[in-house]
Amino acid sequence: MRVLVAEDEARIASLVGKALEAAGFLVDLSGNGDEALSLAGTVSYDALVLDIMLPGRDGLSILRHLRALGNAVPILLLTARGGLNERVEGLNLGADDYLSKPFYVEELVARLHAIIRRRSGDTTGLLRAGDLLVNLITREVRRGEVRIELTAREFTLLTCLLRAPGRVFTRAQLCEHVWEYHHDPGTNLVDVYIQRLRRKLQDHGETPLIETVRGVGYRVAAP
Ligand code: CA
Repeated sequence: MRVLVAEDEARIASLVGKALEAAGFLVDLSGNGDEALSLAGTVSYDALVLDIMLPGRDGLSILRHLRALGNAVPILLLTARGGLNERVEGLNLGADDYLSKPFYVEELVARLHAIIRRRSGDTTGLLRAGDLLVNLITREVRRGEVRIELTAREFTLLTCLLRAPGRVFTRAQLCEHVWEYHHDPGTNLVDVYIQRLRRKLQDHGETPLIETVRGVGYRVAAP
């Protein structure tokens, strides 16, 4: 899962970034509101963490702008202590949750998981395909009785496919979702990772979980 954190206080941004990475998120940091809005409009994030006081456009303005464009990405606001008015305004503008400073990064991680689950309609934190079971909270992956260890990027790639069964993802879409840069058509990065996933998942049967759609990309079959 990929998250944008817009926070101009370097110490807080660094703490939050490290905690989210440790929890398995891919994190983009921005210390400027205009840059954050531009990133949120071009990259497909699973959630945004927006500080309200930012150089350039403030967090509430980013929120208002994205919602006006119909962008429903889950958003958690960071507000100043006692900032009742901005909390109320944020919720009215369509924020999913807020945390007042100072906060514990553990709570931020838990709340982010919660708003992402809520938005995807998944209240259990589990994704399934056939005998494959993925727990988004503990990050445990099992196929039948066998536990499978995945790297952060392999996990993100797999859950991206599993969240939209039946949908075909192009290599460029997967690349943008899982890696930090836009797809270079000259690389076979996505194919290499799909092969690794298939190897780890022992996905070589007649009806594999991860299907290749020739000339387009990959998908997990709809149940
Ligand atoms: Ca700030």
